[in-house]
Amino acid sequence: MSLRKLLQENHLHRDDLIYPVFVVPGESVYREIKAMPGQYQYSVDQLERLVPRLKASGLLSILLFGQTVAKDSEGSSAASPESVVAKAVRFFKQALPDLVVMTDVCLCSYTDHGHCGPLVGHQIDNDRTLKMIAKMAVQHAKAGADFVAPSGMMDGMVAAIREALDAAGLTHTGILAYSVKYASSFYGPFREAADSAPAQGDRKTYQMDPANSLEALREAELDVAEGADLLMVKPGLPYLDIIAKLRAQFDLPIVAYQVSGEYSMIKAAAEKGWINEKAVVLESLLAFKRAGATAIITYFALDIAADTICAA
Ligand SMILES: [Zn+2]
Repeated sequence: MSLRKLLQENHLHRDDLIYPVFVVPGESVYREIKAMPGQYQYSVDQLERLVPRLKASGLLSILLFGQTVAKDSEGSSAASPESVVAKAVRFFKQALPDLVVMTDVCLCSYTDHGHCGPLVGHQIDNDRTLKMIAKMAVQHAKAGADFVAPSGMMDGMVAAIREALDAAGLTHTGILAYSVKYASSFYGPFREAADSAPAQGDRKTYQMDPANSLEALREAELDVAEGADLLMVKPGLPYLDIIAKLRAQFDLPIVAYQVSGEYSMIKAAAEKGWINEKAVVLESLLAFKRAGATAIITYFALDIAADTICAA
């Protein structure tokens, strides 16, 4: 046993895990997400429920997703200093000052058509989108976010955000770029959680084709050149080869996102007694490390962090 431990090549540690948190408008909202058992939507006043759990788990980082009741064609409420995300950042920074807080930066939960930016005809207007997400990122950073995570796969988004952050004196706020985001069917449950399904059409024009991998390297290269601090690959397990390719080519930390569909499949099979949930979760997370991921965003983070394997 000792020898096996001595020679173990990869380890999973709770420090590597990032927990996604869904923040919604309103008061007294603490609602389980149907397709993601054990995961909840929280209004800002309910976030204190997470504080003792985060403390006990020893997790270092969370990733916040927001919503609005004031959807419009531009997604303008995303850039409000009073958005639920800005409020949630302020809350966590006060309650848990050492927690690394990351925020999702995209407009799809804030536009009335559900696309990741304002439209011209059926196309996303890239320039208007960049302006709006840059404003959104600045508000999150002003609220105290350590990293902003642009997830829309818009051309030039990292550069636009970096420039806006620097211009606002927010030079220490980092950018976690969703460099490689596939147009995946594994996102289904998330769209319920984030209220972000497009009313018409899909995101295939700006997310990557699951058939391609060289394109992933080109996308990541652009983000690196634009000033990304961390590179993300999403979804996770079906795209381990992409993580490994990025690892071989870039020297930035790589963050893998084990997405909602991956979570829900494991949960559902475990509920039926078909698999051992904990064993499968640990194995899947270790696989990310083996592929070369530095950190992993996972809905299992809170539950699994306290596990002895992770906490050792
Ligand atoms: Zn989006």
